[in-house]
Amino acid sequence: ALLRRLVESRGAVPLGFELFPPRSAERREALRETVERLAPVAGKGFSVTMGAGGTTRTGTHDTAVEVARIAGRPVTAHLTALGLSREDALAAAEGFWEAGITRILALRGDRPRAVQGPLPPGFAHAADLVAALRDCHPFEISVAAYPEKHPEADTLEADIDHLKAKLDAGATSAVCQFVLDPEAYGRFLETCARHGIDAPIVPGLMPLEGWSRLRGFARENGAHVPDWLNHLFSQAEQAPETMPYLSAVATVEQARRLVGYGAPALHVYAMNRWPLALALARLLGH
Ligand code: FAD
Repeated sequence: ALLRRLVESRGAVPLGFELFPPRSAERREALRETVERLAPVAGKGFSVTMGAGGTTRTGTHDTAVEVARIAGRPVTAHLTALGLSREDALAAAEGFWEAGITRILALRGDRPRAVQGPLPPGFAHAADLVAALRDCHPFEISVAAYPEKHPEADTLEADIDHLKAKLDAGATSAVCQFVLDPEAYGRFLETCARHGIDAPIVPGLMPLEGWSRLRGFARENGAHVPDWLNHLFSQAEQAPETMPYLSAVATVEQARRLVGYGAPALHVYAMNRWPLALALARLLGH
C-alpha cells in the first residue's frame, strides 16, 4: 500500500479510537475536543477502557454514554472482569445495554494492583465472560488478541487456542495489543488462520509519540521494538523539535505496513489525544 494509494483510498481502512475515562473536569473538556475532532474519521467508532478489576466502572459507563452522544458514532465499552463477582460484572454489562451501549470488549483483565488477598470468585477467563454476556443480550462482543503472546501464556499456540475459545463462545472479532513491529501482526494473522480463526483481527496501532513512555509500555507487554524505531527516536532526543515530524512519519509507516498485511481496520490507541491521530486518519484517506 503506497501512501498515495492510501490517501486516494477514501478511507478504505476504517479507524476506531481507544479512549480512557478522564480523571478531572479539565481532562473531560480535553476528551470532548478529541471526540469532536476524531468523530468524522472514526468509521469504527470509539472504545472506552475500564480500569483493572472493574475500577472506573462508573467512569467507563458515563464516558461511553457521553462519547456516543458527542460523536454520534458507535461506542464500545471495555469490561474487565477479574476482581468483580459474576453478578457485578453482569450488572455493569446490563447498565451498558440500558444506556444503549451494545458493543463490549470482553476482558478478563488484570489483578488490580491496590487489592491484596483473594479476589471475589468471578470469571476466570475472558471466554467465560463472553459466554455469559451472550446469554444476557445480543451484544456485539469483541475480545483481546496478542500477536506477540499474552505475557502469562506459555506459548503463542496455546494463547491462540484461548483466543479461538473466546470467538467460539460468541465474540465476533478480536482487537490486538499494539505492536511496534508490524511484521508480528502479519505472522499472527497467518498463525490464526492455521488455527481455523476466520473472524476479523484488528491490529492495535500506537501513535508514536512520547517515546520513553512507549518503550516502557512495550517492555510491560513484551512488544518487540525494531532497531530502526529505537535509532530514530534516540536521535530525536538531541533535537526534540524534530519529534512531531518523526512521530507522524513513523506512525504512518506503521499503519501503511499493517494495512499491507491485510488489516481489516485499525484500532488506534489515541490516549485521549487527537492531533497525531487525526493526521494519521487524513494520510489514510479519511
Ligand atoms: P484472557 O483471554 O482470559 O487470557 C488471559 C491469559 O489466560 C492468557 O495468557 C491466556 O492464554 C490464558 N487463558 C485464557 N483462557 C484460558 C484457559 N481456559 N485455561 C488456561 N489459560 C487460559 N486491561 C484493562 O485493565 N482495561 C482495559 O480497558 C483493557 N483494554 C484492552 C484492550 C485491548 C485491545 C487489549 C489487547 C488489552 C486490553 N487490556 C485492558 C489488557 C487485558 O486486560 C490484559 O491483557 C489481561 O491480562 C488479559 O485479559 P484477556 O481478556 O485477554 O484475558
